[in-house]
Amino acid sequence: MCPVIPSHLLGALSALALLAPATAHAAPVPLAPPAPGRPADFFTDLPKGGDLHNHLSGAVSTEFLIELATDDGLCITTDTTTAVAPPCGPGTRPAGDAVTDAAFRQQVIRAWSMQDFPADGNGHDHFFATFGKFGEVTWRHPGRMLAEVANTAARQNQFYLETMISPASGQARDLADKVGYDADLDRMHDKLLAQGALDAVVRQARADADTTDTEFRTAAHCGTPRPDAACFLPYRWISQVARLGTPERVFTQMALGMRLAERDPRFVAVNLVQPEDGEVALRDYRLHMRMLNYLKTQYPKAHITLHAGELVPGLVKPEDLTFHIREAVQTGRAERIGHGVSVLHEDRWPSLMRDMAGRRVAVEVPFHSNEQILRVSGAAHPFATYRRHGVPVVLATDDPGVSRIEITDEYRRAADMYGLRYPELRDLARASLEHSFLPGRGLWNDDIRTGYRPVGPCADERQGSGRPADRCAGFLKRNLKAQVQWRQEAAFRRFEATHARTTRPGGNR
Ligand SMILES: [Zn+2]
Repeated sequence: MCPVIPSHLLGALSALALLAPATAHAAPVPLAPPAPGRPADFFTDLPKGGDLHNHLSGAVSTEFLIELATDDGLCITTDTTTAVAPPCGPGTRPAGDAVTDAAFRQQVIRAWSMQDFPADGNGHDHFFATFGKFGEVTWRHPGRMLAEVANTAARQNQFYLETMISPASGQARDLADKVGYDADLDRMHDKLLAQGALDAVVRQARADADTTDTEFRTAAHCGTPRPDAACFLPYRWISQVARLGTPERVFTQMALGMRLAERDPRFVAVNLVQPEDGEVALRDYRLHMRMLNYLKTQYPKAHITLHAGELVPGLVKPEDLTFHIREAVQTGRAERIGHGVSVLHEDRWPSLMRDMAGRRVAVEVPFHSNEQILRVSGAAHPFATYRRHGVPVVLATDDPGVSRIEITDEYRRAADMYGLRYPELRDLARASLEHSFLPGRGLWNDDIRTGYRPVGPCADERQGSGRPADRCAGFLKRNLKAQVQWRQEAAFRRFEATHARTTRPGGNR
């Protein structure tokens, strides 16, 4: 899902930019020290690639949000359990009360997450409403939040993170409102560029990213004798575009995100967020795809991944179920699709799946989010159908803080619900790095449908070897994607040694 940013916070969101530690730029990624005392649990230990669909504000745990709110002296309204700025007037309580008062703490946790949410309740509305309730907390500390999320990913044996934020959103909004809308998109783009206006927003976003980077490195103790695991996890930012906005605001956020992706290696892509079933999102869906189609001609190196098909019958009128994914792929130029749950309602869906398989458009699947928001799981979920049609699938968390899950739970569900065994789980993890927006060439052959076979200078090496020959070592040094993939292959070797009983052919996984 995607955060709904309260409008009163948009100005403050300029601070919500990104960072990227040394690992974002430098070629070699240092190895994290091994975690001591890890239990020999199959799903915890399993290497799990990267998380490619993760909203930063929805990814942090609710307990951590309470900690941040307490540190900042924020208040929480007693009726709607919404965080607000101090002073704590009538109808509010200090956020710190959620640390000392168990009943109030439980109230906050239930309001800001899916904890204890009844199975017959409106999960869609409750899930989306959480972002407005904790929004006053999250814009203040993107660096600390990233440290928490990156540490969690590293602890789950992940090797990479792409997380979504809204860079310089206040400045982008102001520029959009000043320029206004022009249906001639080329002219609209020129107006944004005039007098360096869009570049000023780009500069603000990059400065915010620097600030966030500093906060992250401090929070994760990077550069100290005892750095957190987060310091060793490469990550990239995906710029969110609020799809419920006016056309000029949507277009401006798209242009900003794509320009950033071409000018700052910490940013890689854009994604449309907010409910796909919202009135404006539905009304302007094809327009948004045309905007992306145009902007891709201006920013060919910027990546695009799109929430599409996060829909079910009854949530929207039947016609709206029939074209979103196809439009995202064919007009919106999406290289990955988030959710894609409604695919079997698309017109000529088998041909759409053939097209996606042919173009290698991956689907980002967060099982728990889909169950909580759309009530779709198990056989009703198109996960197995995508796989049968050769469409790449990657597991992701979406908003693990709101869902109260970790990526390990997504892999466990893939195994329990669809009977996947170790080789298939391993390939899901591999797919998530292969379809990442990490720079450089990857380790594998182009057509992975025939299996993960290394190509190029590392073809004859033992994958993940600690001492690859010079030719391969040089290739890895030049190509961050292959380098991260190599690290995961090394982890698979260690994993297979520890879990030999379950991973060998005929084993019970
Ligand atoms: Zn999402």
